[in-house]
Amino acid sequence: MEITGRCQLECVHCYANSGPHGSHGTMAYSDWAAAIDQAAKLGTSMVQFIGGEPTLHPALPSLITHALDRGVEVEVHSNLVHVADPLWDLFALSGVRLATSYYTDDPDQHQRITGRHTLERTRAKIARAVARGIPIRVGIIDLGDDQRVQQAHADLTSLGVTRIEHDRMRVLGRPARGQCDASELCGNCGDGIAAILPDGTVTPCPLARWLTAGNLRTTQLSSLIGEVRRIASTVIAPALAETRPCQPNCTPGCDPSMTAPGGGDGCVPKARCEPNKPAKDPCAPEFKCRPKGK
Ligand code: SF4
Repeated sequence: MEITGRCQLECVHCYANSGPHGSHGTMAYSDWAAAIDQAAKLGTSMVQFIGGEPTLHPALPSLITHALDRGVEVEVHSNLVHVADPLWDLFALSGVRLATSYYTDDPDQHQRITGRHTLERTRAKIARAVARGIPIRVGIIDLGDDQRVQQAHADLTSLGVTRIEHDRMRVLGRPARGQCDASELCGNCGDGIAAILPDGTVTPCPLARWLTAGNLRTTQLSSLIGEVRRIASTVIAPALAETRPCQPNCTPGCDPSMTAPGGGDGCVPKARCEPNKPAKDPCAPEFKCRPKGK
């Protein structure tokens, strides 16, 4: 549940295009609570609150307790820049866990990625979560170049974090500059997962936000799940099947089997490749770079 598009940061890799000027959208508290009720009836075991920065939404505390009351576990995916004291007591409840992203142990490099000098603040909150015994999952996102990924991992280990995951930047949202490419997704979309965006749009994943199944404000979640699965199997899976793995030294998001307009090596970000669709329709799932030699 992407409950807001607002965030203190403005990360260069943000698939949601979130930032200080984002809004909480059109979903009211009652809409989110009803969504939790519907998800619980469908057998959902966990709801993740994400954004934007979910701790900026005034209804987050109520939504956490609402989910727990329905027997649904909670993950709060936060940038951990600022966490008000009352939230820590909620985070410490049984059934609640935290997740965050991390990039580097270098404050200046962190600032270049997130737009603000917030590394020490996030680092301190991670340490506080560990000290309080709050389960925390940290994803290190590799944007390429000289990013201090290994040092970030060592830093997290020194803080006592035991669940550390690695991923590359997905060229979707802000880094894709408006283009949408289903082959950038991980492939788990729609597989027991559905995302609800701040305006009620339901998609197979928050990253697949242009592949819409419908809107929760007008249609019950149970009626949208079939469309979520159809999108996953007929749009996302075929797009991923076409993609060949990048070489280890490729720029994140590139595909060596493709080539940029005007020639050049195929190892370039897909967002810069020539789409097969006119620019006026930049989010068509058929978007892809030209195969080499064509
Ligand atoms: S902290 Fe997360 S939501 Fe906020 S701008 Fe960065 S990636 Fe986007």
